[in-house]
Amino acid sequence: MDINGITDIARYLTDEEAAQNALAQLRWPNGVECPLCDGGKKVYEVKYTHIDSRTGEVKPTVRKQWKCGACRKKFSVTSRSIFEGAHIPVGKWIYAIFLMCSSKKGVSANQLSRELNVSYKSAWFMCHRVREAMLQEPLRGMLGGGKYSVVELDETFVGGKPKNNRHANRTSAAGKKTAVMTLLDRRGDVKTVVVPDTRMGTLQELAKPIVHPETTVMTDQHASYYGLHEHFTDHFTVNHNKEFVRGVIHTNFAESYHSLLKRGIVGAFHHVSEKHLSRYLAEFDRRWNTRKDRDGVRTTNVLRSAQGKRLRYKEVIA
Ligand SMILES: [Zn+2]
Repeated sequence: MDINGITDIARYLTDEEAAQNALAQLRWPNGVECPLCDGGKKVYEVKYTHIDSRTGEVKPTVRKQWKCGACRKKFSVTSRSIFEGAHIPVGKWIYAIFLMCSSKKGVSANQLSRELNVSYKSAWFMCHRVREAMLQEPLRGMLGGGKYSVVELDETFVGGKPKNNRHANRTSAAGKKTAVMTLLDRRGDVKTVVVPDTRMGTLQELAKPIVHPETTVMTDQHASYYGLHEHFTDHFTVNHNKEFVRGVIHTNFAESYHSLLKRGIVGAFHHVSEKHLSRYLAEFDRRWNTRKDRDGVRTTNVLRSAQGKRLRYKEVIA
C-alpha cells in the first residue's frame, strides 16, 4: 500500500474492494494469515451473500471473508484490529486516519461525522480507536542520552476553560484542569504524560525512567524540579519573570508543544475529559514524533499499528 496523498484516499473511499485489498496487503504482506489462531496459514476465501433490504437482490457481502483451515473460524481484514466490530467501510477508516495524521491540531468528531457521512457517535468512536492505534508504547528508547543531549521538561494544565493562562493555572485556580508533563528531546521524540499532581516526587519519579541519566535537562524554576542535577548530567532552570531565553537555556520547544496541544484541544475537541486525555496526548505525540514523515507514510504506519489492537465501545464509555 502506498498513500501519496488525497487522491489515493479518495480512490479508497469510492472503491471499498480496493481499500480492503490494500489493507490486506499491508497486514499480510506474505499472504493472508488467520488472526484468530497461530497455525492459520491455510486459509480459503469464502463468498457470502446477503439480500439487499431495499431492492431484494442477492448480493455478495461487502467485506471479504476468509475461513481458516486450522481453527475453522471465519475472519475478515478487520478482525482483531481497531476496526473490528464497527460497521464502517475500510475506505472511511483510511480517510479518518489520513485526516488525523495530516492535520496538525487534530480533527473533531463533528468534522469527521460531516466529511464521512457517519453519525456523530460513530465518528467519535472512530477518533478514539484511531488514537488507540497512534499510541506508541513503549517509547522507542529513552529520551536524551549522550554528550550534547538536551531534554526540556515542562508541566501545564489542560482542559477546562481556554482563557486561563498557564501560570495562573498553577495555583488552586486550576480547578478541574488536568496536569500533564511534557518531556521533549530537542533532537528526538516527545512524550507527554498525565500526572496526578505537580509535586516534586510525582514529576521526578515519572521523568527518571523516561529520560536517560546522561542528559542535560532544562526546566523552569518550579520547585518540583529542584535537585534534578543529582540524577542527570546537568540541570538548568529558566526564570520566566526575568528573562525568557538565556542562550540555549530555555524550555521554548516544550512550551510551543503545549500551545499546539492546547489549541488542538480547545479548537477541535472543546472539552476533553481526564479519562480520554492520555489518548489525545498519544495522538499529538505520535504526530510530533513522526513529523519528518510525509502524511501518507504516517497514515500507512498508523494503519499498520491498527492491527492486533482493539478497543471495545464499553471500554471507551466506561
Ligand atoms: Zn485460525
